[in-house]
Order: sequence, then C-alpha cells, then structure tokens
Amino acid sequence: MSTAECLFCRIVAGEVPADLLAENDDAVAFRDIDPRAPLHALVVPREHHADVAQLAAADPRLLAAVVKLGEQVAGTEGDGQFRLVFNTGPEAGQSVFHVHGHVLGGARLGWSPA
Ligand code: C5P
Repeated sequence: MSTAECLFCRIVAGEVPADLLAENDDAVAFRDIDPRAPLHALVVPREHHADVAQLAAADPRLLAAVVKLGEQVAGTEGDGQFRLVFNTGPEAGQSVFHVHGHVLGGARLGWSPA
C-alpha cells in the first residue's frame, strides 16, 4: 500500500483530521475515534510500516520511540498506567495496516481478548 492510500499516513500528514494528543519527529499520538477505555489513544510512527513485527525488524529505535510516546500520553492523559496493544494481522484484530499501538488506560482494565 502506498502512503497516499494509507489512512494513518494521511493523519500523520494532516490530510485527515484527528484529535492529536502529542507528536514529535518520530511519532504521532491521537485519540481513537471508537474508544474502548476512558483513555484510548493510538500512537503511530510517522514512517509507514505495516505492523509491529515489520517495524521491529526494520527499525527497533523507531519502535522504542513509539512506545515512549505512548508512555508519555498515558502520563499526560491518565495516571501513567497503561496497556499497549499492537494488533498484528486481521485475525488478531488489525484493520489499519500502518503500525499503531493502542494506549489503553484510565480504568481498571479487564483481560478477555477472546
Ligand atoms: O487494531 P486496529 O487496526 O483494528 O485499530 C484501528 C483503530 O483505528 C480502531 O480502534 C479505530 O477505531 C481507529 N481509527 C481511528 N480513526 C480513524 C479510523 C480508525 O481512530 N479515522
């Protein structure tokens, strides 16, 4: 998929609106439009990678930067405790193929993904 067709590349480029929470040279964090927890942000690298496994293989430093921005948002928008979920593959629930971490928090979270 080209970056022109990628929804999250378009959000990063400012072509599609999003509720931005934080950004830096490496990554952007914005609120999920369909929140599943009191805090539900997405944190994405500016650079296009399809999923977390591909990002880890291609650029571990950038993956660490994504995690760090997620931690930052959990601190500024919540109490600093958070769950970070990278759905990887359709069967795991991935629907947008630009790697994104779901930063979930703001409440005691359940644990029943299936
Ligand atoms: O892990 P998955 O790929 O399913 O997550 C995609 C997420 O992107 C969904 O939680 C969806 O609500 C969110 N989304 C968004 N803004 C959009 C389109 C999708 O926050 N414009």
